[in-house]
Amino acid sequence: MSNTKEKKFLKLKNQHTWSSIVISVITFTIIFAIINVAVIFFMLYSIDSKVDDEYKIVRQIADIYLNSHNSDVSFEKIAESNGYEYFVRDADGTVIDGDSVNTCSENGGEMGFVFGKRNYTVYEDTEEDYLVYDSAGMVVLNLRNMHWTEDQIALDGGGTAAGKDDETVIATGYADMPLWIGVPLNDNSTFIVKGHIRVRISDFFVLLAIFIAMNIIMLFFLIFRIIRIVGEFSRRRKITELFLVDEVTRGNNRMAFMLKGNQILRKSKNADKRYAVMHLTIVKFRNFCMCHTPEEGNNILVRISAIISQNLIPNEELLAHVSSSSFALLMEAPTDDAVRQRFSTLLERLNDMDMRDAGPMMAGHTQAYRSFQFQAGVQIIEPNIIEGKKKKRKDTGLEHFYNNAVTAKSTLESTADSGIAFFDEKLLEDERWAEMVEEYQQKALDNEEFVVYYQPKYSPDTEELVGAEALIRWQSPEFGFVPPGRFIPIFENNGFITSIDHYMICHVARDQKNWLDAGMKCVPVSVNVSRAHFAESDLAEQIRNMVDEVGTPHEFIEIELTESAFFDDKNAIIESIERLKSYGFSVSMDDFGSGYSSLNSLKDMDLDVLKLDAEFFRGDADPERKAVVISEAINLAKRLNMRTVAEGVEEKDEVDFLSEQGCDMIQGYYFSKPLPKDEYESRMDKRETDTQNDQNESDKQLS
Ligand code: C2E
Ligand code: MG
Ligand code: MG
Repeated sequence: MSNTKEKKFLKLKNQHTWSSIVISVITFTIIFAIINVAVIFFMLYSIDSKVDDEYKIVRQIADIYLNSHNSDVSFEKIAESNGYEYFVRDADGTVIDGDSVNTCSENGGEMGFVFGKRNYTVYEDTEEDYLVYDSAGMVVLNLRNMHWTEDQIALDGGGTAAGKDDETVIATGYADMPLWIGVPLNDNSTFIVKGHIRVRISDFFVLLAIFIAMNIIMLFFLIFRIIRIVGEFSRRRKITELFLVDEVTRGNNRMAFMLKGNQILRKSKNADKRYAVMHLTIVKFRNFCMCHTPEEGNNILVRISAIISQNLIPNEELLAHVSSSSFALLMEAPTDDAVRQRFSTLLERLNDMDMRDAGPMMAGHTQAYRSFQFQAGVQIIEPNIIEGKKKKRKDTGLEHFYNNAVTAKSTLESTADSGIAFFDEKLLEDERWAEMVEEYQQKALDNEEFVVYYQPKYSPDTEELVGAEALIRWQSPEFGFVPPGRFIPIFENNGFITSIDHYMICHVARDQKNWLDAGMKCVPVSVNVSRAHFAESDLAEQIRNMVDEVGTPHEFIEIELTESAFFDDKNAIIESIERLKSYGFSVSMDDFGSGYSSLNSLKDMDLDVLKLDAEFFRGDADPERKAVVISEAINLAKRLNMRTVAEGVEEKDEVDFLSEQGCDMIQGYYFSKPLPKDEYESRMDKRETDTQNDQNESDKQLS
């Protein structure tokens, strides 16, 4: 898992509900506040404008009052007849005029709920104090003291409307709030009139209802949102669990291993610790699964997982089940030997695995203990010490290390025994090389970069050229001269070997044809055909068609099949051999005695040539015993009507010995290394000339 991907995943996994809830609450509180402020603002604005309207009336009354001094109309009477309650204060606050009813409070201030201060003053009413003064001297509404009146209100302005004409009544249910409005007169006195602010009760309640409804809706949305966040959180937990928990063992899976492993490695306190990343597999677990139910297989895995866990340091080391038969481990590894020691302890515990605890699996089975073989690949993570100081690991690259451990384990695959292998760079180089070869193989084939070398086979008696083996070489513009051991195994693995076999057969057939046409005395040339190819049912026909296309007589082509191939589908191989022979091709068994016992196959297969592997002549074995084995192998071949070729012969005494034993052909450095085509041609030329000379010599003797 890459660093950024890991960070994204962790962010998703650890994202807290609380932060989402807090953000939601803050958002909703802000919206609440905005709505409430808007409603209050609207209410205050309405009252403000009503007070303003009332002020305009009071201003007019004040003008009438001033004018009344210049006329003989008594203002007192006007006021009385219109229901005004008023009085006039001088600059010192002494009442100098007014009617008898004075409920105006001394408390007064400048009006301005919404639009700021005005040029008039508002005073409380001592009987009904709707208005109060805050500490800043501003008038504020005191709704708690508001009394609602069911009085009917007339449209004609001013005064309560009780007893008014029915036609002028527009509604019932007003809040009538008396207040005193003071208007400055020219002589520094203040004219103060009792005014009224009337709020329709229905308006007030509509506003209140909207206000409450909005708040309830908001609250509802907030609760809904919180429920959703909590639900989302638990869903996310379940999803991340799906990503991180192994279905079988209920422990860590591969992804969890990478995440948690990286966390362990990144801890500052672990910077100077040496770690081992281990890829542990159960050998032939598939076979076990084939003979048991999936539940039984799973129970084994659970048991193994539990045993491994018991052998790890809790919270400091890590285990994960990564695939059906594989586990990944991260453990502290002071030395390589310590890792080996822990592996063997683990093996002991695993081999003592008591299946009686493993659930229903062993029901009906009498065998309580089951032992498996385990193979482990290990990659070491060195302490992160830079310039003598331990430094917290940043980019741990656990995934990469784990892949290396897998590569290390793959080197053990040739055996089925328990074992442990440590990764080294060479393994990676091999993998890289295989990758490069795969990348270039087709291009190399198309551009004929593969060239045929011929290794002559000589008769040990006459030292005559009696045959040759075609051996491939790769002359690559990118990699230079590449011997077959560096690419043939890769082609065998990836299947490209069949194209190579075709290529070689075609080239050899063409060379042979050209040499024959040129009048040269050709000898049979053997071509290696891979075991993968032999499994193809029409192999014999493919070869016949290729050779016939060129027009080479079949007796000049021999097919070599490596000994190990005889362990594949025997019937298919026998079938191919028989058909090849029926078409006139010779067939040989290559590398006889190289490690696989193929004596049995000799019984079933009617082969023409037995090629004794170079191993017969190598090693420190007792020379006498060696001689017995070689001689008996040649005898065996003779009794089965097979010719023999000894491969890898480098010494003169070996040639002499083989000659004595009746070996038919020698292929080895003693006579010749594999040669490029033109050099091999010159050997054929030489042979022609030699034969010619011999003939001339005997002709001379006869005459
Ligand atoms: P092989 O078929 O057993 O070929 C014989 C190998 O032994 C050749 O190695 C040859 O160079 C080597 N050899 C022969 N005499 C001596 C000797 O006296 N001393 C030593 N040390 N070595 C000797 P080469 O050419 O490296 O080929 C290795 C293997 O690669 C071959 O073993 C064969 O299995 C495979 N191979 C080569 N060419 C082809 C091909 O065209 N097709 C296929 N399928 N496999 C091929
Ligand atoms: Mg060969
Ligand atoms: Mg060989």
